[in-house]
Parts: sequence; structure tokens; C-alpha cells
Amino acid sequence: MNSLKIQITQNENKNEKTPSEQLVFGTKFTDHMFIADYTEGQGWHDHRIVPYQPITLDPSASILHYGQTVFEGMKAYLSEDGSIRLFRPEENMRRMNNSCDRLSMPHIDEDLALEALKQLIELDKEWIPSEQGTSLYIRPFMIATEAHLGVSASKTYSFIIIMSPVGSYYKEGIHPVKILVENEYVRAVAGGTGTAKTAGNYASSLKAQEVADREGYSQVLWLDGIERKYIEEVGSMNVFFKIDGEVVTPALNGSILDGITRKSIIALLKHWGVPVTERKVSMEEIREAYLNGKLDEAFGTGTAAVISPIGELRWKGELFYVNNGETGELSKKLYNALTGIQKGTVEDPFGWIVEIK
Ligand SMILES: *Cc1c(COP(=O)(O)O)cnc(C)c1O
Repeated sequence: MNSLKIQITQNENKNEKTPSEQLVFGTKFTDHMFIADYTEGQGWHDHRIVPYQPITLDPSASILHYGQTVFEGMKAYLSEDGSIRLFRPEENMRRMNNSCDRLSMPHIDEDLALEALKQLIELDKEWIPSEQGTSLYIRPFMIATEAHLGVSASKTYSFIIIMSPVGSYYKEGIHPVKILVENEYVRAVAGGTGTAKTAGNYASSLKAQEVADREGYSQVLWLDGIERKYIEEVGSMNVFFKIDGEVVTPALNGSILDGITRKSIIALLKHWGVPVTERKVSMEEIREAYLNGKLDEAFGTGTAAVISPIGELRWKGELFYVNNGETGELSKKLYNALTGIQKGTVEDPFGWIVEIK
């Protein structure tokens, strides 16, 4: 890491901290941020930690017009003994580079980015909330900054890390949500950008979410872009079903985001000896399972909620209730195991945790 010189400019005006029960996701940011700049021919340069502040862009910067940008989402947790814990952070950095490949953006040095993140967390560590279910949300992202309206890959970029304290996702305890199966709009198609965490995927998902909101549903269930037959994801989470004792999740098919929570859940289930299969899952199969009383559980998975149980699905006017609208046993067990490993109250048999000092 001797190649990395991070210049640190301390923030003299420390922001006031919000009590963690009043935190609203992604609205409050810590005192500092990390930035590095990239110039074609020169590589990454000017690695620095500075006070959290607005960034200046030329109005013709390509990020603003063509959306050449990628991001990551991860969390730091404070354990009871006061140590700071990251959950599989190297997976986020690796995935960020995969996203960069798809968007014709330069790679970051994964070790160096992790080192920069550790230094940033160290500086802002008093921002990590300690209450049950809380954490520090970390948002690394990269934007194309070249002032040029031509449609081509930018020659300059900025890589930035910002951090935001988050309250408990489940203030009233883990509870199932209602999901509307989306039959018109699609999130992604194989060959497109669905496997990358890039802005366009989320901008194009808002329309369907609007409809779901209006109808009283929390999220949409995305189907494949060709036949509207096979299940892909739920909102911006991966999705699992327990059908007749077997856990199934859609196989990564070129349009599904390779979630770190998803792969951790598959590993946990295998570790426990619970049968788990990655394969195509059709809505017709879910309907059949429901009608035969075999749709045991359904849940979304992602860094924000960890596990989000599904209590009801609406598909073409039909309603399928899962586990009487209650959180299933396996969903609870997975939630407790993963959040326990993250917080340090449950042993981590996989070496997933990276402690900071
Ligand atoms: C980030 C994301 C996920 C979940 O990934 P995790 O690594 O588990 O947080 C799933 N689907 C989409 C579309 C995502 O953007």
C-alpha cells in the first residue's frame, strides 16, 4: 500500500449527528469523503480525503448526458466490543470493477480502494451508530467527468466514496411486504446492463415502482425481458422462494445482479445442509406451488434490508399469500444468522468479516 498517498484535509465544521431512531436512509452524510481522479494516459491520481462537499462538473460532462457511472452499496457495523466490521468488502470492490468493464470505465485498484475506505471510516468512525440493526452505509461510485458531448467513453473520471449512518430497517421488527408482479416494464435484459450497478437500471425501474406504490404494493417483482415468464429480481433485491422444502433462486442469467447477500445466503444454506438450487423459476411454478399449498416462503435479499420477507404476490389479478402473510422460519433464521455475523454476535465460519483495527 506504499503506493497510496492519501492527502487528508480535516473538516473543521463537524456536522451534527441525528439520533439513530430519527435517521432516514441516505439523507445524512458523514464529515468526510474520499476522491481520486483518473486521466487517460496517467491513471488514477490525487487520492484525497476532504470535507463532505458538492462536486463541480462541466455542464457537458458525459455522466450528465449518457449516464456513464457505476456504484456500490456496502455497510460498516460496530460490534459490542467497539470494533468496526465490514462484510465481504473485497466482493464489492471486485463487483465495482465488473460494472466498470460493462460501462467502458477504468478499473480501480481494489486493494487501494479498500485501504482508502478504511482510512475514511477511521476518520469518521464516531458516525457509526451502535444500536441494534443500525450501521454505516457506504456508497463508492465512479462518474465520467470529461467535458464532451460526443457519445464515447470519457477520458477522465472521479472515484468517490461517501458514507451515511442508517437506522434500523426493521424498527417494528422484520415484517413481510406486498409485491406486485410487473408484466409490462422490464428491469434488464441479457446483453444489457442488468449485471452492472449502473444508474440507468434504476432510472428505468422508477415507472413500475410508481404504479406499485399507487396500488398499495411496496415493490415490483421483475420478470424476464423476453417472455415475461421467468422471475428475475424483486425491486433492487435478489429473490428466493422455498417451495416444498427446497430453496430456489433464479440462476444468474446475464440480466440479474450478482448480489453479495444472495451468494452469502446460498453459502449459509449449503453450510446448514438445506437444499438450495439456482435455476429458472417461472411465475407459473409459483402459482402452482401456491395452489398446491407448497409455497412455503419467499424473500428478497440485499445489503439494505438483508432479508425482506414477501407476504403477498399479485400476478394478473390473482393474489398469492405466502405463509399466511407472516415471516417464515427459514427467513428469520437466515436474517438472524447474517445480521449476527455482521454485528459479531454470531461466529463467522466463512471468514467474511474484515475488521478495522
Ligand atoms: C445491489 C443490488 C442487489 C443486491 O446486492 P447485494 O450485494 O446483496 O447488496 C440486487 N439487485 C440489484 C438490482 C441491486 O442493485
